[in-house]
Amino acid sequence: MSYQHIKVPQNGEKISVKNGRLVVPEQPILGFVEGDGIGADITSAALRVWDAAVATAYGARRKVHWCELYMGEKAAGLYQGDYFPEETIAALRDLLVSIKGPLTTPIGGGFRSLNVSLRQKMDLYACVRPVRYFAGVPSPLRKPEEVDVVIFRENTEDVYAGLEYRSGSEENQKLAKFLREELHAEFVEGAGLGVKPISAFGSKRLVRKAIQYAIEHGKSTVTLVHKGNIMKFTEGAFRNWGYEVATQEFREVIVTEEELWEHHDGKLPSGKILLNDRIADIMFQLLQLRPAEFEVLATTNLNGDYLSDALAAEVGGVGIAPGANIADHIAVFEATHGTAPKYANQNKVNPSSLLFSGVMMLEYIGWREAAELINRAFIQVLAEKTVTYDFARLLPGATTVSTSGFADALIAKINSPR
Ligand code: NAP
Repeated sequence: MSYQHIKVPQNGEKISVKNGRLVVPEQPILGFVEGDGIGADITSAALRVWDAAVATAYGARRKVHWCELYMGEKAAGLYQGDYFPEETIAALRDLLVSIKGPLTTPIGGGFRSLNVSLRQKMDLYACVRPVRYFAGVPSPLRKPEEVDVVIFRENTEDVYAGLEYRSGSEENQKLAKFLREELHAEFVEGAGLGVKPISAFGSKRLVRKAIQYAIEHGKSTVTLVHKGNIMKFTEGAFRNWGYEVATQEFREVIVTEEELWEHHDGKLPSGKILLNDRIADIMFQLLQLRPAEFEVLATTNLNGDYLSDALAAEVGGVGIAPGANIADHIAVFEATHGTAPKYANQNKVNPSSLLFSGVMMLEYIGWREAAELINRAFIQVLAEKTVTYDFARLLPGATTVSTSGFADALIAKINSPR
């Protein structure tokens, strides 16, 4: 495929899919989008750390060949104002595995969030956020080491579907008339209206992915999080479809909470996975008071958005939380925070969110040794209290370093692993 601005590295090979599985060459081409605001600082720092970890883990045998792709302000400069060029979408599909920095969403003016557009255009239906504690990270919890949860958030439906009708608009009035006259709905005159679509298809593929993850990673609990007590035909349906997919497609491994008490005296048989469900509001409390009870959460879009940041806050905040948007074979890993424009180009912020998204990406392509080198280096650097400003605020006696300085400290540990 030839592109206008994207230069695909000549020496690497593309990742492919064979019999439904990813085939990763020793020298794969991976895409990266630098991102806006602090994107340039964190991306250049993280790229150096990932490359160092791969070189230390595998020597000359393995190397990532990075291919820069353009979205956001950098794209607009290159492609006559186009923030999300078609050739970037084509390249994300072609390369299969990519990583991106944060992107600005201009407020108002009919400009849709680029992140939401990316997820919907490419049908990246699962937003995956692993949240775990690293020793030394400042935390408000008494036992932060109990937090080790992976959130699977549905990415394409719910109130994010963009079905909103402004108060007073013609569409709003048409819809209000239909709702009142045909469905006898009652609501305040002139209310803004939104639609919350949740389908069996969307719910089941998300829950399926969460259960598959639990099986592959030896997890013993998957929890469906919903607000089905209030929104019965959307959130409640998500819960019901979740149980359906679990009991119909994974019967040999799944034990529901009801079955646990009816047939197993409350004790999960070994090798089985408990499927339970919790209402979203109580989940916020449980994740603070008893996080050890949860391993994998599968949830709808808006619940997942709130839960991801709330849980991340327990173990270091969005400056360190990683994430990925995943379809069946295409994956776009991403920093979970925004562009923090006031810190742009100051070489100041914490690159760890993007860095750990890259660790997830290395694990995703099966390069666990390189991923583990970064995890270990991070713990060592933190133990020495060498941190960026955000952690320094919370860690008395810390040495504050820049974004690139933090990367240098990690690389020094990676190059001489203990
Ligand atoms: P933000 O960019 O995440 O920044 C909010 C605050 O979080 C910062 O002021 C900073 O706190 C802290 N922070 C964020 N990243 C950090 C890092 N790497 N290291 C240390 N601290 C960090 O959120 P926002 O200001 O609401 O949004 C700014 C823009 O980003 C908007 O255009 C928004 O649409 C966009 N956005 C993009 C994404 C994405 O691309 N995935 C996600 C969210 C928002 P202190 O000021 O306390 O130091």
